[in-house]
Amino acid sequence: MVCLASLGGREFLDGVINYTREALDFLDIDEGLKEYLVIPKRTLTVSIPLRMDNGGMKVFLGFRVQHLDALGPFKGGIRYHLSVTVEEITALAMLMTWKTALMNLPFGGAKGGVRCNPKELSTTELERLTRSYTVMISNIIGPYTDIPAPDMYTDPQTMAWIMDTYSRLKGEHIPAVVTGKPIELGGSEGRTEASSYGVAICIRECSKKFGIPLRGSKVVIQGYGNVGAYAAEILYNWGAKIIAVSDSKGGILSQDGLNPYKVSEHKKKTGSVVGFDNTKKISNEELLEVECDFLIPAALEGQIHKGNADNIKARVIVEGANGPVTPEADMILDQKGIKVIPDILANAGGVTVSYLEWVQNLQRFYWTKEEVLKKLDDKMVKAFNEVVECQEKCKINYRKAATILAIGRVVDAIKSRGLCP
Ligand code: NAD
Repeated sequence: MVCLASLGGREFLDGVINYTREALDFLDIDEGLKEYLVIPKRTLTVSIPLRMDNGGMKVFLGFRVQHLDALGPFKGGIRYHLSVTVEEITALAMLMTWKTALMNLPFGGAKGGVRCNPKELSTTELERLTRSYTVMISNIIGPYTDIPAPDMYTDPQTMAWIMDTYSRLKGEHIPAVVTGKPIELGGSEGRTEASSYGVAICIRECSKKFGIPLRGSKVVIQGYGNVGAYAAEILYNWGAKIIAVSDSKGGILSQDGLNPYKVSEHKKKTGSVVGFDNTKKISNEELLEVECDFLIPAALEGQIHKGNADNIKARVIVEGANGPVTPEADMILDQKGIKVIPDILANAGGVTVSYLEWVQNLQRFYWTKEEVLKKLDDKMVKAFNEVVECQEKCKINYRKAATILAIGRVVDAIKSRGLCP
């Protein structure tokens, strides 16, 4: 049985709207335009009937929310998770609009999701679910209209199914309809680890800015998936000490430092980081409160909230996940002097390389991994410096500075385009 009522996500959406409104107060904007900026342009809800492997049938709810496209086609990932609600997807779509604008990418913001537990579905069921969802949103996606990408519990294989289904529907090969594809289907070198690389670049720049030597710095990571695991590997290679990591089953701690490659092998074998040799088992709540230089929440939203913000002992939080810190927690962290590098900057590496993948698909000409990562590094450092400059000039926190910069660019584009009709 499916239920259209929200299962959550309202608080997350309220938080994103709250950040947006706070940033809007800094800008001289018409009240009507302010309203326009917090309402998505289009919200599509679909019910997806799925034939299960055992011959039975189930129905899943799917969403695609397109927030604003003033700067270019909509862009944003697709998430498969039981927590998916229209409010959550709307919040994520809005964050994508600000993220692409902050990174100076010619895209708007969107997000999609299917409410399901992907761990309970077989590969063939996941394929049928993905293909059906693609058919149902095919009228509103496209290489020049809306370009999906992976998010939680979706991956290059999911993108390959979307690309194949969409191309068959249109009768031509259209790799640019999604990014995050396997390399052989037009995926970009460097895309898999791009979000993590962006997180690591932010940490590298923070270490210079705040005088925290990267070599030997203590790093804690919540979530050991695409973003968390690669971030651990990159930072380990750059000399940081990864002292604690976790996944949905719990966390592990070792003050001597973990070898993330070996942790990944262990997770592959056993399904979790828990139980890795010579580590202490800790809960996800305890993990967030471990003393460290850099804390990377890289799982779900709302993980650092008013109930635990006061116990956080990190010097800097770098948001690998989208929305991991609630607005109340942000205020507490501000008072404690803990710096927060916001999601729209910290995890923008993924959409930046997605942009580079899209450009390569359109021009049918491909760059090497070194070329891609160099372009990503340049874009991340430029955005990081712009946010720092705005933060210092306006004496506000990094989140507000990043949001003001992003919204300012979207507002300029809306004003130049004008209203139609
Ligand atoms: P993923 O599915 O690859 O990994 C998620 C990880 O989080 C898994 O290890 C899972 O076990 C863990 N997890 C789930 N629930 C948890 C909990 N309650 N406590 C601790 N760990 C938990 O997902 P991902 O792609 O790495 O995305 C993680 C976050 O990063 C999401 O917020 C996503 O929106 C954001 N993000 C992802 C990308 C990308 O390119 N994949 C880009 C930008 C932002």
